[in-house]
Amino acid sequence: MISDRVRSLSPYKTETTPARIKLSSNELSLELPEFVKKRLAEEVSRIPFHRYPDPEARLLKEAIAQRFGLREENLLLGNGSDELIYYLSMAVGEFSRGIFYPVPTFSMYGISAQALGRERVEVRLKEDLSIDLQESLRAIREKRPALAYFAYPNNPTGNCFEEDKIKSIAEEVPFTVVDEAYYHYSGKSFVERALSRQDTVVLRTLSKIGMAGLRVGFMVGNEEVVRELNKLRLPFNITFPSQVMARLMLTEFYWLIEEHVKEVVRERERVYRELRRMEGIKVYPSEANFILFKSLLLPAEQLHIRLVEEGVLIRDFSHMVPQCLRVSIGKPWENDAFLEALEKVLKTLDK
Ligand code: PMP
Repeated sequence: MISDRVRSLSPYKTETTPARIKLSSNELSLELPEFVKKRLAEEVSRIPFHRYPDPEARLLKEAIAQRFGLREENLLLGNGSDELIYYLSMAVGEFSRGIFYPVPTFSMYGISAQALGRERVEVRLKEDLSIDLQESLRAIREKRPALAYFAYPNNPTGNCFEEDKIKSIAEEVPFTVVDEAYYHYSGKSFVERALSRQDTVVLRTLSKIGMAGLRVGFMVGNEEVVRELNKLRLPFNITFPSQVMARLMLTEFYWLIEEHVKEVVRERERVYRELRRMEGIKVYPSEANFILFKSLLLPAEQLHIRLVEEGVLIRDFSHMVPQCLRVSIGKPWENDAFLEALEKVLKTLDK
């Protein structure tokens, strides 16, 4: 019998509508030059496919440690940070104690809590998308959750919450996870704090820097915490091809990723400025690789469909934030296509 706990879950949703331009999943539009593809193919062709990969993914771990100035003992690798969210929700505290997170936010915190039968302690962000500290502390004192998640920057809102508020909440819960999936676009981090304490870890991912298809995420934390969580890890959770390709990208070809990330940050500011001057749109500032905006003249759902008709796929988030949609930042020509399509749709409303 499938439990009510699982029956009441909704599966993780993603946009699969086919479209010419896809700006819906916060990926990095990284177009690999032929010589890079060739090198990757060469490396993959050497893999002994009949063998299990290294269960500890040591060579990849070493590359991640070197690339991001960390030590291997402080790293736990996951099949995307999604897998690590599951482990954290399983490992921290007893299941009788809940999990806190401000909403709207990334859906996996709630899905993992619900799958395990843990109470979800959700507190709405304020109108300006900042944390409601008073209400959060009240909910925490009343419900006593064991774990708090913060997406930093937050998805889908794009902002980094105030550091002091995160710290104040962290003082009131036994364990805190700062999910820095979009770190490369904000440059802000809790890594130092995570390394110096037993009650805080940071999550990062390679998904938002051009390697979403490889499924590699990692947790940064104190050695003791890493050792304990490693006991929960499924054996061989990072596939052989992912270990080999991610290592190559982080060593030989990281310059390519850096170039693209810089371009996205520049483009994010341009798209923000363009959206700001459009009538019928309210745009929110972002420190990530996407932008949240509100549709003022047309229901978000309809605007979403109209943009798909123009060949541009973004995400409708009106179920989480009234009237809001989220657009990922792509290549300049993709962003232009989005802006033009949006302008075209809005123009037809004037008539
Ligand atoms: N955390 C946040 C805040 C995210 O937005 C996402 C991806 N949408 C993830 C984690 C999951 O990333 P991964 O691909 O590493 O599982």
